[in-house]
Amino acid sequence: MVDPDIDHVLLSAGEIEARVAAMARDIDRRREGAEITAVGVLTGGFVFLADLVRRLRGPVRVGFVRAASYGEGTRPGELTVEILTDREIEGRDVLLVEDIVDTGRSLAGLLRTLAGHRPRSLRTAVLLDKKARREVEVPLDHVGFPVPDEFLVGYGLDYAGRYRNLPYVGVLRRSVYEGGG
Ligand code: 5GP
Ligand code: MG
Repeated sequence: MVDPDIDHVLLSAGEIEARVAAMARDIDRRREGAEITAVGVLTGGFVFLADLVRRLRGPVRVGFVRAASYGEGTRPGELTVEILTDREIEGRDVLLVEDIVDTGRSLAGLLRTLAGHRPRSLRTAVLLDKKARREVEVPLDHVGFPVPDEFLVGYGLDYAGRYRNLPYVGVLRRSVYEGGG
């Protein structure tokens, strides 16, 4: 059953599952046995992270980071980054796991902060790539799907805190965020 607020489903649960499994195989191939510290970006990245780590065959640790933009009146694109892992980043093979890359600003800021903690290696796994919107170049090592410039929800992505639990990625009906109709 598709939520009535969804205009159409872009990626079904089955398509996502297959793609995430393939990404995990690719990550396992490229790591050459080394332990991975998978660092999910809160909150949107939690569903992708949970599915991805359960597909990995080699050793993995899990942690989280949170990135928040400064409020009004500060320069746009400036981020505060909180690292919430209970273990060191230093010396680890870190895989940053994010739901979607849009302008690239958040991912760029997160990578800069994590790099400052001197990991042994730093790679990225991003489920959705909104290429057309990119403003800042970011290295994407593992990408799930290119997606069009539409407002997406589900599989971790929210609108006003809702829809994160949808098992698919869908385009939100305009009437939901434009009010009325
Ligand atoms: P960026 O810094 O790359 O512009 O922004 C990335 C963040 O913007 C994502 O982590 C996500 O929170 C948000 N974002 C970008 N596009 C979408 C979208 O289509 N739907 C939702 N729910 N969030 C989005
Ligand atoms: Mg995000």
